[in-house]
Formats: sequence, C-alpha cells, structure tokens
Amino acid sequence: MTTRHTAAPRIGVLAVQGDVLEHVRALGLAGADAVPVRRPGELADVDGLVVPGGESTTIDRLSRIFGLHEPIRARIAEGMPVYGSCAGMIQLADEILDGHRDQQTFGGIDMTVRRNAFGRQVDSFETDLHLAGIEDPERPVRAVFIRAPWVERVGDRVEVLAEAAGHPVAVRQGNLLATSFHPEVTGDHRVHELFVRICRDR
Ligand code: GLN
Repeated sequence: MTTRHTAAPRIGVLAVQGDVLEHVRALGLAGADAVPVRRPGELADVDGLVVPGGESTTIDRLSRIFGLHEPIRARIAEGMPVYGSCAGMIQLADEILDGHRDQQTFGGIDMTVRRNAFGRQVDSFETDLHLAGIEDPERPVRAVFIRAPWVERVGDRVEVLAEAAGHPVAVRQGNLLATSFHPEVTGDHRVHELFVRICRDR
C-alpha cells in the first residue's frame, strides 16, 4: 500500500522587483512548492501568487512591461489566491491614495490603501501584533513595517485581521490576503502558513 501525501500547492512569487527570495524561502518552510514568476506562462502554472514588498510603482510598471498585469487581474477574477505584503498590499487595493499619477493596481480587495502612510511620521518600525486566522493566534507576530501603507477604507466583504495606529494593517477578502508589514523577514512563518492553507483549501 502506498501513502499519499497531500500535494504541496505550487505558489509563485511575482519576481519583477522586491524581496522575492525571502518569500520563496518562507513559503517553502510553510509547506509550499515556491517558484519565482516573471512570465505569463509561469503564472499559468501556479495555484497562488505572492506579491512581495518593494516599490509598488516599480512593481506596477514592470508587471505591465512584462505582460503580467492583465493575466494577474484575470487570475484574481477567477479566484486565484494572492497574498500581498506592503507594496503587494498596495497592488491588491481597488483604490490607492498618494500613488504615482499613472500608477495602476491589480486590485481585487475592496479597500482604499494609502502609500507610505506611516512614513510621514517614522520610516520603519517594529511592533507585536495579534493576527486573527493564524495558528496560535494568542501568540503575537513581530510585525516589521518599512515605509508601509495602511488601509483607510474597507468594503463589507473585507475582514480586518489586525490593526496598528488605528488602521487596518492585515486584511482578507475571500482568497486575497494582504499585510502592511513583512512577515518574511522574521522567521515566524504563520502568515505564510495561513496563505498556504488558503491555496490548499481552494
Ligand atoms: N513604500 C513602498 C511603496 O509604495 C512600499 C514599501 C515596502 O514594500 N516595503 O511601494
């Protein structure tokens, strides 16, 4: 008799700019088969996608140049799970504030996100946050904010998972997950495990 293991979901990390390798590593440790995605053909092969932190205006511009913008929008519309961290959160917002004049997002989450929102006071900081939906939710996550956005408006279908400074900083709408902060740099993989679960359950 053979034992069948639940196949690891194949999760892409959008690899046009930003901290791609940290997410590939964290996803691998969280039980996924993680691969960088630079081409539409590579996108077609994945069960879920991470949009990393970096610079959202650059991620936007390069995604359009590489022909990934429309295919990513189409996969989101079909229900593909996507997790966006920091710049990735900005790219999942239906509406942004303080974006570049021609900046476009993939959208998908009914929310308004302000770029560099904390950055007007402090550029970067860390804090402990309780995050709903992760394993062992009583144990806080170390949240690292780097020129981070915050959420200024959420629609009815958006679940707020964590707040900081009076604003949502972690949200979920169906298969779409977004955090203002960077869990890939802390060694605590519970946010990535949550996303791997979303991809597996789909
Ligand atoms: N400020 C960046 C932007 O607007 C996001 C910063 C980050 O991803 N660490 O894209």
